[in-house]
Amino acid sequence: MKRHTFVRIALAVLLALVVAIYLRYVPDRYDPLARLDIAESPTIFTAAKLARLKDDAAACFAALDGVRIDYLRMADRKTGVGCGFSAAAVLQRSQISWGGGVRLSCPMLAAMAVWERHDVQPLAKAILGSPVVRVNHLGSYACRNVNNAEKGPRSEHAQANAIDVAGFTLADGRRIAVRDDWGGEGPKAEFLRAVHDHACGRFAAVLGPSYNRLHADHFHLDMGPFSLCR
Ligand SMILES: [Zn+2]
Repeated sequence: MKRHTFVRIALAVLLALVVAIYLRYVPDRYDPLARLDIAESPTIFTAAKLARLKDDAAACFAALDGVRIDYLRMADRKTGVGCGFSAAAVLQRSQISWGGGVRLSCPMLAAMAVWERHDVQPLAKAILGSPVVRVNHLGSYACRNVNNAEKGPRSEHAQANAIDVAGFTLADGRRIAVRDDWGGEGPKAEFLRAVHDHACGRFAAVLGPSYNRLHADHFHLDMGPFSLCR
C-alpha cells in the first residue's frame, strides 16, 4: 500500500470515529440527526430539525405531543385548485393563546411552538417586563393567491402553511401592534424587531413591514419551500 493511501484511510477512520463518538455522547439538541424536542433550548440545528418535519408527519405530531400542545387533527384533503390540507390540525391550546380557528400544517405549529417558548416569551419578559398571553393574528389557512392577487401563484396560506401575526397582548394588558409599533423607537419596537429576527431562525419565510407595504401591519410566517427573511 502506498504511504499516502494509508494516511488517507487512517484519516477517514479517525473522522468516522470522531463523528460516532460525537453523536453517541452529545445531547440530542446538538445532534443534527436527533428528533426535535420543542422544549429543548434551540441550537444551530433547530432550523434544520424543524424543516425536516415537513417530510415526516408522525415525527411532527410526536413533537407537538411531547410538549402537550392540544390540537385536533384534520383529515388530508383538497379544497380547491392548489388548496388544501396535509398533515394539518386545528390548534386548541399552546403556551400562549393564538385565538380560535388556527388551521395549520403540523410543521407550522411546531415552528410556532419553538418561537413562542424560546423567542417571544423570553424577549417579552426581557424587553417589556411582562410575558405575552396572546398572539393576535390576521388568519392562517385561506384558499387564495399570493398577496390576494387575481392571478399568480397560490399563497402558502392556501396549503395551511402560513400565518399572519399582527401583534401581541401582554399579561399586564399592553398591546403591541406591528402596524403601530414597528416604526417606533421604544421597547415595543425593539421587541417587534427581535421577535421578527428570531422568527427567521424558526420559519422558512418571514416577511414584515420592511418587505413591502402589503406587510405593513403583520409578519407573514410560513414553512414553504423558499427561505426569506425580510
Ligand atoms: Zn401571509
